[in-house]
Amino acid sequence: MKQYFRMIKDPRFRLVYNEHRPFGTGPAPKRIRLNREGFSMVAGVKKKTMVYPGMLLAEHPSLEKGDLHSPIYGMITEVNARSVFVDAVDPSQAEPGVFPDLPAPVDLLKSGQEGEELVHTVKKMGVNTRSLGCRTKTLIVNALNPEPGVRWAEPMLTESADEIRTGLELQRRMHRAEEIMLAVPTGCSARFAGIKTVEVDPTYPNSVNELLIKEVTGEEAPPDVAAVGLHNVWSLGRTGTTGLPLMETVITIGTATEWANYIVKNGSLVGELLEFTNISLKSGDTILRGGPLCGESLDRLDRSITKGAYGFFVVNAGEVPPIEGDSPCINCGACIQICPTRIDPRMLSRYAEFGKYNMSRKENFRLCIDCGLCGYVCIARRPVLQYIRLAVKRLEEEERLARLTPVEPVGKG
Ligand code: SF4
Ligand code: SF4
Repeated sequence: MKQYFRMIKDPRFRLVYNEHRPFGTGPAPKRIRLNREGFSMVAGVKKKTMVYPGMLLAEHPSLEKGDLHSPIYGMITEVNARSVFVDAVDPSQAEPGVFPDLPAPVDLLKSGQEGEELVHTVKKMGVNTRSLGCRTKTLIVNALNPEPGVRWAEPMLTESADEIRTGLELQRRMHRAEEIMLAVPTGCSARFAGIKTVEVDPTYPNSVNELLIKEVTGEEAPPDVAAVGLHNVWSLGRTGTTGLPLMETVITIGTATEWANYIVKNGSLVGELLEFTNISLKSGDTILRGGPLCGESLDRLDRSITKGAYGFFVVNAGEVPPIEGDSPCINCGACIQICPTRIDPRMLSRYAEFGKYNMSRKENFRLCIDCGLCGYVCIARRPVLQYIRLAVKRLEEEERLARLTPVEPVGKG
């Protein structure tokens, strides 16, 4: 079905902050928790294995998903179906020989690697290559902050220009796009040699890739055009500048009154980040991993910052009325009016609420771009986006299982 985007120009959703401080360095973790769903542990890596920064722990079967490395010195204390936990160990206090010498950095720019060989190498170094490795005519690097409240995009273009320049060069050497363009907020002066820059109105949800592509090209879902987030290019450039597997991510940590951008180790626990930033939680506060509009709320302080996470926010009790799972829809229509893809979040959320996932198909659930605006405007405080995500997950799982189920031969018996 042809999409028909509604372009939202709401001044509440500005994405620029004129922020140009270098990123702070996050805490040295005491414990980390790495997500290993879909990964296979490397042979011999198990509970009580001593690990060091950059050590390969688990591999993912897909070329699009970066492998998993330890970001710290430590000992694995638990491996379960979802996570690997590592408790930090001070290497200066460890017995001689417990930790090997760290491997020498790999200079990707001097390695001479290109094309598929380079894609494979960066995957092995922990970088997710799904959108970086798109085979397309035009690749647009999305340099807008992903959501209101997230503030690292502008300093990433200026204060982390080395990583971005290196990431863009590595991207070019992957040879998967004929042209790479950089989409920056209107008025931003950052430029990179050999890369065409276009300025885009920095109002959410223009930072959602589908809408950004329309802003840049004037077309909806044009063939041979794809977009990749600046955060992903930074990750590639980080690996290129350090020569080491990807062990960190950049996040904005924020509350209603304070915020800062940090480079933190993958797997850092939210409890340790709260302590480091002197944010104390009160009863009823909500912790969000991701951004204020689309973030997922966390119920425990031992949840962690996953690879590629871009934000971590604390919403104080009373600041925003809490989302209520059993709150009935009052048919106000606000979510329908704001949805940029003109689908019906009201009905989609109801179908999911009552387990009628199949009904979501007739409401074109696939057109949802996960922007979160429906939940933001819902006066009944229904978890509209969360219901839609649930339906998408269930239907995709159903389709995956259907593909695996052998079809009965016709005409037998
Ligand atoms: S998250 Fe809600 S508002 Fe955004 S595209 Fe999906 S249904 Fe529409
Ligand atoms: S905004 Fe909320 S209450 Fe209003 S129609 Fe949508 S789901 Fe129902």
